[in-house]
Amino acid sequence: MASPIGHTLGGLLVYTAGTGKKLHWLALTGALLFSVLPDIDFLFGFIIGEPNRYHHGFTHSLVFVTLAGSLGAWLCSFKNLKMFRMYWIIFVLSGLSHLLFDIFTIDNNPPFGAPLLWPFSNHYYIIPVRLFTDMHRAADSSHFIKSLFNPHNGMAVVREIYLVLPLVIITFWLKKRFSGNEVQK
Ligand SMILES: [Zn+2]
Repeated sequence: MASPIGHTLGGLLVYTAGTGKKLHWLALTGALLFSVLPDIDFLFGFIIGEPNRYHHGFTHSLVFVTLAGSLGAWLCSFKNLKMFRMYWIIFVLSGLSHLLFDIFTIDNNPPFGAPLLWPFSNHYYIIPVRLFTDMHRAADSSHFIKSLFNPHNGMAVVREIYLVLPLVIITFWLKKRFSGNEVQK
């Protein structure tokens, strides 16, 4: 898994690429939320004292991020359905960025990778090019949060920022430089 910071940078990248010049708080909030949502599976295990138990389960699938993003887009646009497409693209792509980052991350805990095609297949996919570093974390809930704060994870976050933030800045600059009139209302 990449860190929540790396994932939110992925959501920020999607938001930056997918919206106009005007700041759109709802789209930005949704992009950040859906970029980390698949890791909600930590919560399932956290409740029973084993936060890693269900990690990289069904929430790390194409079906889940598409359904979750679609639901989010519908909730955000039910007063103005013309906005549905914009929300849908940003929310679903933010979820997909999570899956993409995770399969490009070193994974030392089985099952390795993510079940992208669940429920049609339980096969786990991982890319042998490891862009991001894994996060060290405790196996029991009582030490889990505290265990995330260590030098190894700190360097992993630095690496994520180093790799993704420049893309966000370049995308932001290109949008300011080349995008035409504001299209969002
Ligand atoms: Zn994840």
